[in-house]
Amino acid sequence: MDLTTIETVLGLASSAVGVTSKAASTADAIKKLFSSEKAAPDNGEAMKLVNALAGELTTANVMNVQLSEALRRLSDELRKEDEFAKEKARYALIATERKDMVYRLREDAANGQPIHDACPVCMHEKKIMYIRGEGDTRHCQANNHHIFRYSRTPPPRVYGHYGRGDF
Ligand SMILES: [Zn+2]
Repeated sequence: MDLTTIETVLGLASSAVGVTSKAASTADAIKKLFSSEKAAPDNGEAMKLVNALAGELTTANVMNVQLSEALRRLSDELRKEDEFAKEKARYALIATERKDMVYRLREDAANGQPIHDACPVCMHEKKIMYIRGEGDTRHCQANNHHIFRYSRTPPPRVYGHYGRGDF
């Protein structure tokens, strides 16, 4: 989760609350002006307050639009995080015979999918990428530099070059 998204939302929310409470106190001032004991309220003062209120409400509207957009983005990010966490929970971290760590789909969470391994490097970047191949050395489908060693290859048999002598 990108914390700046949450900080943006909280910043916008507190500004929106500030503008709204300012508008509320301006509206209050207008009300007081008209309910005062005075027979004729000061029209000039009233006009100033009404204009101020209109401005504050416009600002509040703009902030509310920004806030609701930021909230939508945040909720979108949270949903994606949640989906990824659920998907990742289907895998278990295992060590290959060569002690490379990979994620393997758990049997009990396979839901009919073939058991496969996923790249831990990509998993760290919140992407689920399959590990291809079936040899001793396999690589990530998204990046050939993500290489995983699986089984211990028996030491290559050395054929002697001695005694051929025909070259
Ligand atoms: Zn990868």
